Amino acid sequence: MRKANYSYDVPFQKSSPVYVNQPHLPPLAEFVPYLEKIWSNKILSNGGPFHQQFEKALCEFLGVEHVAIFSNGTIALITALQALRITGEVITTPYSFVATAHSLLWNGIKPVFVDIDQNTLNLDPAKIEAAITPQTTAILPVHCYGHPCDMEAIQTIADNYNLKVICDAAHAFGVQDQGGSILRHGDLSVLSFHASKVFNTFEGGAIVCPDAKTKRHIDHLKNFGYVDDVTVVAPGINGKMSEFNAAFGILQLQHIDHALSRRKEIDTIYRQLLSNVKGIRCLQDAGEKIHNYAFFPILVEADYPISRDVLYRSLHDNEIYARRYFYPLISDFPMYRGLPSAHRNNLPVAVDASSRILCLPIYPALSREMQERIVDAISEPGHDSDSQQGVDGLF
Ligand SMILES: *Cc1c(COP(=O)(O)O)cnc(C)c1O
Repeated sequence: MRKANYSYDVPFQKSSPVYVNQPHLPPLAEFVPYLEKIWSNKILSNGGPFHQQFEKALCEFLGVEHVAIFSNGTIALITALQALRITGEVITTPYSFVATAHSLLWNGIKPVFVDIDQNTLNLDPAKIEAAITPQTTAILPVHCYGHPCDMEAIQTIADNYNLKVICDAAHAFGVQDQGGSILRHGDLSVLSFHASKVFNTFEGGAIVCPDAKTKRHIDHLKNFGYVDDVTVVAPGINGKMSEFNAAFGILQLQHIDHALSRRKEIDTIYRQLLSNVKGIRCLQDAGEKIHNYAFFPILVEADYPISRDVLYRSLHDNEIYARRYFYPLISDFPMYRGLPSAHRNNLPVAVDASSRILCLPIYPALSREMQERIVDAISEPGHDSDSQQGVDGLF
């Protein structure tokens, strides 16, 4: 077999590409003992020893009492709505990843979109009441970019109208407000451990439950509704996390403090470097005590020389793969845009944010040199060191 030597084949590259995220992985050697354990005990799923251990370790790290881990965040969201028997209409945000609203459609629930707050980009509590009808049964807010929603205001409305609150906390791993983990809010909170998130188990998710009884019910639902080997109490689903993912999660938790502190450093450097760039606004915290720096969103303002989309393409030409989270809005996708609440006149703040947002690369291994290259490319958009093509040549 020919020994691979690719150095002849690789064309000259002016730079290496940088993506919005790079999953944080521990040294492979550290995972091998976990695999050896699985290979010797032959337990691959169904609430094995790593599953139990991971749930306990998560509760400790997150500062919550009861966690049910899942195969992914979307199945966890769908199951959370099932567990609370949510039906009819649910109030939610158009400014999120599409799985938020899809979880409603999978339950036969009608999403009702309500506009967001222009500072936090989270569901605006002041606009919720006007959207409540006799069919409304719950509110499904999202802690967008890990910034906490105004849960006091949302819970007050929910209490007044007897509504449940399910928080999509897929971005909010490890976030705390003055009272502790923000996952304690609402009736249930749902996490995602997808590869793209701050904390990953390759694929994975969890529901944070307020009490042991609710967790037991959810544990049954994620295992086809089985309570023992001959009794099925509900039309459950298969939402179980495998021993492979659970073992990996236990190992990842040992590295999360380092990953979070690196993200914080990167966030600080971006804010310093971008402070002099006219027309670029960095999103601010929403009053949290501990943030997770899951994203680095910037807003392209009117006094920036070019539009967000031209900047986006100019960065791509420099192999900087920033992402437009969240564009398009969920309410603009074909399965939602016919809903009365999806009309763009109903959602002016979300429409505006979606047209100006750009999420810059942020992950523990991102170097300062790379951050400087990214900010240089934003400071001088269209400036491409070894091509004549500026932004005018793009279209
Ligand atoms: C990632 C994400 C989900 C879905 O989680 P998966 O684990 O990928 O299924 C749901 N909601 C939001 C806001 C997300 O970012």
